[in-house]
Amino acid sequence: MKQKYDVVVIGAGCIGASVASHLGELGCANVLVLEKEKLIGTGSTAKCAGGVRAQFSTPINIYMSHYSIREFETLEKEYGIQFNQCGYLFVVRNEEQKERYLKNMEIQQSYGVDVRFISKDEIAALAPNYGLDNVLGGTFGAKDGLIDPSMTVDAYFKRARKHNIDFETETPCTGFKTAGNRITHVITPKGEVACDMVVNAAGPFSKELGKMLGFEIPIEPVRRMITTTGELPFVTNKFPMVVDVTTGMYMHKEGNGLLIGLANKNEKPGYDENIDTEFLDEMLTTALEVMPYLENAEIKTQYPGTWGGLYEETPDHHSILSYVPQFSNFIVAGGFSGHGLMHAPAAGRAIAELVTKGTCDTFDLKPLRFTRFAEGDLTKERNVI
Ligand SMILES: Cc1cc2nc3c(=O)[nH]c(=O)nc-3n(C[C@H](O)[C@H](O)[C@H](O)COP(=O)(O)OP(=O)(O)OC[C@H]3O[C@@H](n4cnc5c(N)ncnc54)[C@H](O)[C@@H]3O)c2cc1C
Repeated sequence: MKQKYDVVVIGAGCIGASVASHLGELGCANVLVLEKEKLIGTGSTAKCAGGVRAQFSTPINIYMSHYSIREFETLEKEYGIQFNQCGYLFVVRNEEQKERYLKNMEIQQSYGVDVRFISKDEIAALAPNYGLDNVLGGTFGAKDGLIDPSMTVDAYFKRARKHNIDFETETPCTGFKTAGNRITHVITPKGEVACDMVVNAAGPFSKELGKMLGFEIPIEPVRRMITTTGELPFVTNKFPMVVDVTTGMYMHKEGNGLLIGLANKNEKPGYDENIDTEFLDEMLTTALEVMPYLENAEIKTQYPGTWGGLYEETPDHHSILSYVPQFSNFIVAGGFSGHGLMHAPAAGRAIAELVTKGTCDTFDLKPLRFTRFAEGDLTKERNVI
């Protein structure tokens, strides 16, 4: 670790690693990535379900997914990361849901997303043994799929290292030195680092960096749970990510079985990542409603078969990719609200442009600006799970 860098990125999850890699690609290589843990990529990124989809309800999220899917395809070729484009299927069970998802589909198609409405029979063929009671069909995005989170971080790490970007693990940012509206130094237990620019990529801990600087960053950590099954022979690589719109329960192939996730709507913000056994019972009850066949499956109810992790939630379920009014050289790259892995490529590119050019040409980042909360100008992403 040197004493002075052009840019210090705080956090080495998929976002920090992607930002570093994209900075390197744009010729900005005097960059330090600080990570408080022993290893990079062990925060929310490691807990994530790996879903990648372009089926969103707002143009900015659709654009970011488009960009990211293309980059995942490249990373697959260049670094051999696993990107299984098995598709994403939103299953609807009543007319209101069908109408809503058909409307979403029209918006997505108008932005060039490969998505179509499929029948109950097609669902049965794609996702054998899925519960089809009352099912009217579903929207299916054929280019969507599953990406390996650790391999993604590793690929970005390797790309960043090609540009000699430094990663310093076991080195938390514990504070800042400022002069007027500029940050001059990042403080760590290993010493102070002078810098021209700071990127907050601390994931669910993003708001803690805001506290150190005396202002509020509206990103809340919220626990989400995942469980997995033992072997299920009918679950092949073609089994898509299936989301039951009624309950929000999602499932996809993991190992030789299924990974199953559900949001606890009553979960309060906080840093607790432990397994919530009461909610796990609720998850399993819902899983049996959605897929009665699971009665026959082994459910791995203990860690590491079941785990908790933290979403980084914003009030409108959109990320913040933005400078802030409080400090002229501080950028927030967080608050992805459950879609940070799938948007890591786009976010990395966007932040690298903000750092090197002051603006972003690849995306119109207005919907993701920091000041939208104070302005009350919020558009909610409706397709969150
Ligand atoms: C159960 C679950 C399922 C999910 N499923 C999906 C999915 O299917 N698809 C998808 O796209 N997303 C999904 N997500 C969301 C996704 O995991 C996150 O949006 C994404 O990982 C955020 O990446 P990040 O790099 O911002 O955060 P993190 O991976 O948490 O990285 C932030 C890093 O910053 C470090 N850090 C924090 N504070 C400091 C500090 N002060 N100094 C130094 N380092 C610090 C942390 O240790 C951490 O390594 C899921 C999340 C969960 C919990």
